[in-house]
Amino acid sequence: MPSTPRNRVGDVYGQLTVIAPSDRRTKSGNAYWWCRCSCGREREVAGDKLSLNVARRKPTVTACEECSREHQIEAVCFKHDREERERRKQAKHDRKQLVGMVPDRWLKLPLTDAHARELGQTQFFRGRKCLRGHLAPYRINGGCLTCAGQTPSAGDWQSTKPTES
Ligand SMILES: [Zn+2]
Ligand SMILES: [Zn+2]
Repeated sequence: MPSTPRNRVGDVYGQLTVIAPSDRRTKSGNAYWWCRCSCGREREVAGDKLSLNVARRKPTVTACEECSREHQIEAVCFKHDREERERRKQAKHDRKQLVGMVPDRWLKLPLTDAHARELGQTQFFRGRKCLRGHLAPYRINGGCLTCAGQTPSAGDWQSTKPTES
């Protein structure tokens, strides 16, 4: 069993600086190290998780648990939020041009897939045509309702609409 691990004290891995060896060992005999995060918190990390070689594609630890969690949430939400905000803005804009041209009910549907999920609904209407040129609501996890044979597309709806004068 390897008992004298390479001394990592002073090594820096992302936000972590190795400050002391720990007595703990992983099942495979790897040493744990006490690391201090740039936020001041300390974390015990297995040596095989401390790596600068990202290409190994092994899970690496580069911050305390708090900071790691924040990074993850930020990375996901930040990108997600921005795209989703854009999508909803665009959908609102597109739908405004369709007032009177599509059933009013469609214009009351959620704006996007994520919006529908937020509201616990299953359909949304972005005011855009599907790849096959239908203008119709979408079903979450599904797609265009006209493609699914569930509703006529807006153009057809108009031609079957009784003329109001
Ligand atoms: Zn931290
Ligand atoms: Zn379609």
